[in-house]
Amino acid sequence: MKKFLIGFIFLFLSCATTGPGGKKSLILIPTSTEVEIGRKVSSEVESNEKLLNNQKVQNYVNDVGQKIVKVCDRRDIKYTFKVIDKAEVNAFACPGGFIYIYTGLIKILDNEAQLASVLAHEVGHVVARHSVKHLQTVYGYSILIDVLLGDKMSDVARQMIDAAAFLILQGYGRDNEFEADNYGILYTKKANYNPKGMIQLFEKFKDMEDNPPSVFETLIASHPPTKDRINNGNKQIEKIGGTNLPYYTGKFTEIKALLK
Ligand SMILES: [Zn+2]
Repeated sequence: MKKFLIGFIFLFLSCATTGPGGKKSLILIPTSTEVEIGRKVSSEVESNEKLLNNQKVQNYVNDVGQKIVKVCDRRDIKYTFKVIDKAEVNAFACPGGFIYIYTGLIKILDNEAQLASVLAHEVGHVVARHSVKHLQTVYGYSILIDVLLGDKMSDVARQMIDAAAFLILQGYGRDNEFEADNYGILYTKKANYNPKGMIQLFEKFKDMEDNPPSVFETLIASHPPTKDRINNGNKQIEKIGGTNLPYYTGKFTEIKALLK
């Protein structure tokens, strides 16, 4: 009964408005729970992965990320952007705004607009609450409430955190990826970067699909076909403009040189 009541209250407290155009979607998990889950998933991530030991690069990536946050549609949470020291071409967002990018992805980029577009895509997943929606569908309330209210993590909660980490790395499926691309392109432009940076990024993925390197990883494999993302992205850019905006290459090149 207690759990039912709490669920019932959440239902009314947390109808959220997300995204450009004020698109409404029913979110059953309140932000505080999402952040709590995100914190647990991110501490799992950080105990399994090695963060890049270079504060200059970490600060730079976080600063670019915060420029995106300033123009995004969801600012009720604190976002963090961290670099993982690994050759994978990947980036991902945990619930609650904990965003990670691998050095392997930074190394294939050529300018700050491309980096901004990766981070903006991940912010898009957080704005649209893709991971919590997914968890909500898979697990329902009761376990999530368990995570929120439990003093210590139950086995079920622990399993859920592990599963969440897995789901996040797998991508969120075709529709959600397009949605994150669209948010990403919009935020990249609003943050004063050329949104074509996103298309340049996809072109790189396409080259990798045609000619896979040894580190052909989930970011590409789990997402919609790259040619569809290029078409969709170009349509978005036609709608919103911004192709006269800069790519910012100088500082990015300097930072990239710090990665071995
Ligand atoms: Zn994605």
